[in-house]
Amino acid sequence: MSPAFDPRRPALVERTPISVDGVSGDRLLFIFCAVGCGYARRPGGGCSNCGFHPLSTQGAPLSDADLIAQFDSALGAPGALDGVVEVDLFNSGSFLADAEISPAVRAHALAALGRSGVKRVLIESRPEFVTADKVAAACALVGAQRLEVGIGLESADDRVREQLVNKGFGRAEFEAAVAVLARTGARLLAYLLLKPLGLDERAAIEDAVASARYVFDLARRLGAPARVALQPVFVAPGTALEREYRAGRYRSPSLWSAIEAVQRISPLGELLVGMSDEGLQPHLAPQGCERCTPRLRAALIEFNRTGDATALAALDCECRATSGRATGNQSNGV
Ligand SMILES: [Zn+2]
Repeated sequence: MSPAFDPRRPALVERTPISVDGVSGDRLLFIFCAVGCGYARRPGGGCSNCGFHPLSTQGAPLSDADLIAQFDSALGAPGALDGVVEVDLFNSGSFLADAEISPAVRAHALAALGRSGVKRVLIESRPEFVTADKVAAACALVGAQRLEVGIGLESADDRVREQLVNKGFGRAEFEAAVAVLARTGARLLAYLLLKPLGLDERAAIEDAVASARYVFDLARRLGAPARVALQPVFVAPGTALEREYRAGRYRSPSLWSAIEAVQRISPLGELLVGMSDEGLQPHLAPQGCERCTPRLRAALIEFNRTGDATALAALDCECRATSGRATGNQSNGV
């Protein structure tokens, strides 16, 4: 069932331009080829949009030595981090779950990044694994101000998160995890989806903006530095979303929706927009029309590099008016 994989090769290593605290450089995305998300493998678990299982061993365990070899192959060589200001250290699951990444592998990787000049180290976890002891241990290795923990809230709306996305946790768990980050001095990156299954373009934009407002308000109240990562949904193979897409009941958001959401969220706090498909070869990715798609993508990538949304206001195209964003538009089909 599992595809062939080399236990000593990471699932993905990719560089993209970014700016951290005003310093431009590369974001290095490193994804362990590891056992993958325990929630996705649980009966009834798994998120409707998540197509990350091909980047994992799909449950086949690997030794700590193999995982450490993966890390060292890409990040252990002298000069491997030259020009890198941020490392995103992912495992297509929860980096803080012992069953997915052992404490020894976690410590090896975080200690190496702690010794580097990288300004930010991003890991990801479901909220139930964001405990004070694990976050404090990670902070001790990389420094609290450099550690950022990404949590896939997806939406502040319980119906969207639990019923449409099948996320399997509520706002109480998310808020408890943010409180842990605040107490340990680590940073929060909250992932939000733009247009999960079941929302049209307009509802998706409003849900993303309201969710971002909730995240920034909560983080301010608890005292955790926070960013929002807005992920315009793409249709990855092997997902519930793919079935709906093939049945003509789902399409990815328009890039115009992404641009409107960025324009409205960026004044609220620091924002990143997800522009990578992380090698998943989606059937359908967010787009405008043939003429403007490259321009819109480039503008969003530039926004990620500079954090400045003003240039987005100058973008236009004939397709903008028909991109399905008008209030009450139900054009959710293909
Ligand atoms: Zn266009």
